[in-house]
Amino acid sequence: MPEQSRSVTFKNVSKVYAGGVKAVDGVSLEIVGGSFVALVGPSGSGKSTLLKTVNRLVEPSAGEVLIGDASVAAEPPHLLRRRIGYVFQNIGLFPHMSVAQNVAIGLRLAGQRDTAARVAELLELVELDAALAERMPDALSGGQRQRVGVARALACSPGLLLMDEPFGALDPVTRDGLGKAIRALHDRMGLTTILVTHDMAEALLLADRVLVMAAGRIVADATPRDLLAGKAGAEADALVAVPREQAHRLAELGNPSILPGTGRGTAPAGRGGGGAPQRTRPAESPLHQPAAGPPPRPGEE
Ligand code: ADP
Repeated sequence: MPEQSRSVTFKNVSKVYAGGVKAVDGVSLEIVGGSFVALVGPSGSGKSTLLKTVNRLVEPSAGEVLIGDASVAAEPPHLLRRRIGYVFQNIGLFPHMSVAQNVAIGLRLAGQRDTAARVAELLELVELDAALAERMPDALSGGQRQRVGVARALACSPGLLLMDEPFGALDPVTRDGLGKAIRALHDRMGLTTILVTHDMAEALLLADRVLVMAAGRIVADATPRDLLAGKAGAEADALVAVPREQAHRLAELGNPSILPGTGRGTAPAGRGGGGAPQRTRPAESPLHQPAAGPPPRPGEE
């Protein structure tokens, strides 16, 4: 059984790297146990650094991170990491080990010898054919490799799953399928999940709560619905505008009469010149329509 879902609390966390870059600047927030939180923002805004303070791949320069009531600093990193699933881009499977051996690494480190049954269970969990167990990583597709990475991350039944751009190197169809699979696993296993992504559409569609980072700070903290309704401030609006605009253009391409009288079809393609961004009323947005929007989640509606 997975560990009980655990909250994650950041208390005034900052990170200044050697050379003086302030990657994280005084972040305080609590992530409720069992929630799926996306950390979104442009490249270099500090998302990965903040995430890595949870499993101590990065030590904060100031502040504290807690899992449940316990400071992560109180536990040796290798023991802490055994209780935290971690999935990142280009997952880093060991190339000389089979899929089964890669998945079983955490179990073996924890002293388990007979891992075959658990590996089979994990492959089934991430919807990989059992026959892949004996394959080597270079004989897998990118999507299959990421699924192996997810199986490996979940092997020791962590209550907490950290994901750092896990879908970054995948084609859009694979990316979408894996995103949905991760969300389903999160729900089924009662995980607490923190997903770092630069893709606002992905964050809106997968998460219960979206945190927007800019220059090391959290500049917006809202549900997908509130973000889409424009309630989370200018920085968040600017990021939401991209998928919203794309959804409009696609809808118009498919059916030019879909948005009568909105003037969207005649808007200039480029805005340029620093003019005020064109705001789209949420009710007009395909991303806001119930059929296309995120499904209701616990705590919403
Ligand atoms: P993001 O995940 O949002 O792309 P990062 O947390 O990776 O952002 O990086 C935030 C800032 O910290 C960037 O300016 C980056 O160059 C810098 N940075 C990240 N890792 C290191 C490091 N190990 N040493 C020095 N600077 C770093």
